[in-house]
Amino acid sequence: MSTIFHKIRDREIPAEIVYEDDHLFGFRDIAPQAPVHVLFVPKQDFATLNDVPQDQPEIIGRLALAAAKYAKAQGFDNDGYRIVMNCNGDGGQTVFQIHLHLLAGAPLGRFGT
Ligand code: 5GP
Repeated sequence: MSTIFHKIRDREIPAEIVYEDDHLFGFRDIAPQAPVHVLFVPKQDFATLNDVPQDQPEIIGRLALAAAKYAKAQGFDNDGYRIVMNCNGDGGQTVFQIHLHLLAGAPLGRFGT
């Protein structure tokens, strides 16, 4: 299934891409929830976290480590940041291509409902 993130991946619609390697890309969220809000997305298609094969943990590991690498490169790794993945309706997922949110740049609130 094609989503807006596939169109960003394929440069069919614009986005501020801040990270890219062979496996994934990262771009600024259009509606940032923190001073830094970047989405990291694999180039392979997976609608939700449920669809990632259990024997391919590197798909998720790469997203988290790309976020950490970006945080270090931008110099906010020591101040801190949050990574989040939403899954399906109750998790608040709205785009059905898996992505990891990186939120940073200010003290973040605790989790809530
Ligand atoms: P989800 O709710 O699925 O975890 O997160 C989807 C995120 O994608 C939201 O934070 C939303 O603001 C962001 N988003 C949706 N459409 C676009 C778009 O066209 N461009 C960018 N850069 N972000 C988008």
